[in-house]
Amino acid sequence: MSPPVAIAIAAHPDDIEFYMAGTLLLLKEAGYKTHYFNLASGNCGSVEQNSAKTRMQRAKEARSAAAVLGAQFHSSITDDLQILYLTSLLRRVAAVIREVKPGIVLTHSPQDYMEDHTNACRLAVTAAFARGMLNFRTVPQRRAIEGDVAVYHAMPHGLRDPLRRRIVPGAVVNIARVLDGKREALACHRSQQRWLDMSQGLNSYLQTMEDISRAVGRMSRRFKHAEGWRRHLHLGFSVKEIDPLREALGKDYLINTGYERSLNQEP
Ligand SMILES: [Zn+2]
Repeated sequence: MSPPVAIAIAAHPDDIEFYMAGTLLLLKEAGYKTHYFNLASGNCGSVEQNSAKTRMQRAKEARSAAAVLGAQFHSSITDDLQILYLTSLLRRVAAVIREVKPGIVLTHSPQDYMEDHTNACRLAVTAAFARGMLNFRTVPQRRAIEGDVAVYHAMPHGLRDPLRRRIVPGAVVNIARVLDGKREALACHRSQQRWLDMSQGLNSYLQTMEDISRAVGRMSRRFKHAEGWRRHLHLGFSVKEIDPLREALGKDYLINTGYERSLNQEP
């Protein structure tokens, strides 16, 4: 039997490393085949190099990061600030979904600090939704697939929504055991590290990631380093409610009972 599959779909090179890579590493450990897909090239992430050079360098860095994570790399499909909710991009993302046939999709928060993130999330969600629609054409053309998929949303950048409200995760994943791997993957993005180190002090890039994972860990009141997730409503994605992260990660996965309770409160 082929192994279960998980894919992380983010906006820019390094977004997966900041918010999803620990969970991806643990899924790999649990026997999942994992995939790594940034929709944008990261071409605007430099003040020293032009767009073409930056695009090339960041693709190389992202490829190395995916290798560190043991995940299959997928090339970006557009440039920074151009992740728009367009049919042309949706066809490309849906093709990847049909190719890899994931049981788990990890993506950005539906509300995030900038539109590339929000739109990457929308594209990932609809691409997963359209996996079985025979009349939806993908580019390249891929046959529609069957099967359940669960979509999980990462914490937004800054752990707040664009209106500054704090976002509480519905579940947290203990990433302490794989923090070194997450750090190593993030460190592959050397261009970004250099840029931030110059403007914000040495190692601020890696430090920021650790500060975030510690902050989410504190929210859990259990784990020292954590990544937070909110699970998408299952309608259109699975026959009944499923939580494959819970099954795969066992005691490294902690459901926020307060969050679950709040979902069932009468409006
Ligand atoms: Zn980003």
